[in-house]
Amino acid sequence: MRGVRGSVPTPAADHLAYGGNTACFTVDWDGGQAVLDAGTGLTGLTGAGPWHILLSHLHMDHIAGLFGFAPLQDSTVHLYGPAGSRSLLEGLVGPPFWPVGLGQAVLHETAPGRSFPLPGGVEVSVLAGCHPNGSLLYRLTDGETCLVYALDCELAGDMAARLTAFAQGADLLIWDAAFAPRDLRPGWGHSTWAEGIALGRAAEVGQVLMTHYGPDYDDRSLQAQERLAHEAGGLFAREGMTIEL
Ligand SMILES: [Zn+2]
Ligand SMILES: [Zn+2]
Repeated sequence: MRGVRGSVPTPAADHLAYGGNTACFTVDWDGGQAVLDAGTGLTGLTGAGPWHILLSHLHMDHIAGLFGFAPLQDSTVHLYGPAGSRSLLEGLVGPPFWPVGLGQAVLHETAPGRSFPLPGGVEVSVLAGCHPNGSLLYRLTDGETCLVYALDCELAGDMAARLTAFAQGADLLIWDAAFAPRDLRPGWGHSTWAEGIALGRAAEVGQVLMTHYGPDYDDRSLQAQERLAHEAGGLFAREGMTIEL
């Protein structure tokens, strides 16, 4: 886990026990690796690649790390994102907004209902999230182990039913816990840890990992939320944490 914050980075000292970088996760398996979202947590990640970066959507907290991602300049980087990603990212990452562009990055535009393979026998399927400007939720599986990435998604309309079906039986569900339950703002496109626990139970998910914490929640506030969630079986992500599936 490289970035567990939502909306904006929070480098303040009282936010660092959980972490101040925005959304970024690496997933490793035999024969491959993927990066989920390119928030500021992507900065500093190095290696020869080839890289496969899945973008949930193009809000800044999910792409800001591309500006500081050195492998773009000398490695093969595959970027997967919603329709329009190619021209939008090429316009944003580069002059006059930034001195260097996307290098040799290969952009793959995907859409809800589609699926695509990653090296090492992993298949990715895509579901539409409920979020301003849209979001893509991803399910990664090698046929045995399954991870569902569901950030920036509000359980409005039929979203809970669709996501319950999509996440059915997953080993790990990475969840949008942007709001504490008492602070939930309908229409903002986010969820709470309590909703994650309920949906995880309905979908018979092995473990629900909370992340994308709102920038206003300091460590003390997140600790209090984590205690409550922990009693109900939820886990709170911290920058640097790893989970073995
Ligand atoms: Zn976000
Ligand atoms: Zn968003």
